[in-house]
Amino acid sequence: MNIQNLIRPTIKALKPYSSARDEFQGNSSAMVFLDANENPFENGVNRYPDPQQRTVKSLLSKIKDIPQQNILLGNGSDEVLDLIFRAFCEPNQDNIITLPPTYGMYSVLANINAIEIKSTLLDNNFQPKVDDILKTVNENSKLLFLCTPNNPTGNSFKTKSIERLIKEFKGIVVIDEAYIDFSNEESWASRLKDFPNLIVTQTLSKAYGMAGIRLGICYSSEEIISVLNRIKPPYNVNELTQLKAIDRLSNIENVQGEIKRIVLDRNQLAQELSAINFIEKIYPSDANFLLVKVDDANLRYQQLIKNGIVIRNRTNQALCDNCLRITIGTFAENENLIMTLKSLK
Ligand SMILES: *Cc1c(COP(=O)(O)O)cnc(C)c1O
Repeated sequence: MNIQNLIRPTIKALKPYSSARDEFQGNSSAMVFLDANENPFENGVNRYPDPQQRTVKSLLSKIKDIPQQNILLGNGSDEVLDLIFRAFCEPNQDNIITLPPTYGMYSVLANINAIEIKSTLLDNNFQPKVDDILKTVNENSKLLFLCTPNNPTGNSFKTKSIERLIKEFKGIVVIDEAYIDFSNEESWASRLKDFPNLIVTQTLSKAYGMAGIRLGICYSSEEIISVLNRIKPPYNVNELTQLKAIDRLSNIENVQGEIKRIVLDRNQLAQELSAINFIEKIYPSDANFLLVKVDDANLRYQQLIKNGIVIRNRTNQALCDNCLRITIGTFAENENLIMTLKSLK
């Protein structure tokens, strides 16, 4: 597969902005920096951040066992996804494939970028219908989004289906692994060498407990990473975010402990929810939330709000009639939820 043929001509021809810190890459504190029109008085953030976030990437590289050249970081996954659109999708010409019910940002980004959305519903077990998907594709289909574990359904897609889609789809397959750390599945980032058209995205927003700093991660071939690097804003990940991420990634055992806790609590919450009489179904989850089917989603949602508990009403999503999405909270929050649900009439 020739990736160059998938890149928009405008992007191929682009001469990227070269920032002061791109042109000089030394790190010595003995240096005198008079190159970037910064205020010289030290306050912790008076200097521009590292445009390539090398320290963050080196920590991630060790944790995830992926070479640094295969990593790009963004201001949340949302920025990473937007860069992917702008690299591969020609406005008013190309299309993307999504598999509803799934994460809403793929469609929003497609709409912002004037890209047509082609959708193929998941099947009744929330698995991709591979043959139908491949039939939907045409020569302008540039991106296929696979969210696994999927939001809002919580399940992981079957390895065989994903592998077939990556092999047979003639564009870029983007696997969104925002919830991978809560699952027992292996990340597809370990398969980058096998699939030149694969992009895997992750985030520090969920399992890593850092939604507030906005740090999204993209793993792909060096070729694709270098394309995305050409179009990203030079200083897209700010200094405070980098410092916080370095701190958290340097104490990875804390993250792992929290993930274990959340997964245990998820399984216990599922058990306790099954005793609530108006909950009809609890879908299996590989993520930090549960999708549950109730008798009347709008009613239950409103009742919970009145009791000070906010969850996500997904009843208007395809295949999610009367479904609510509940994030796993602390032990006390989960208990509060259960008590409240038990008290509802
Ligand atoms: C929460 C979530 C993200 C995370 O987005 P950020 O911009 O990194 O916070 C990405 N994909 C899915 C499916 C999500 O649910």
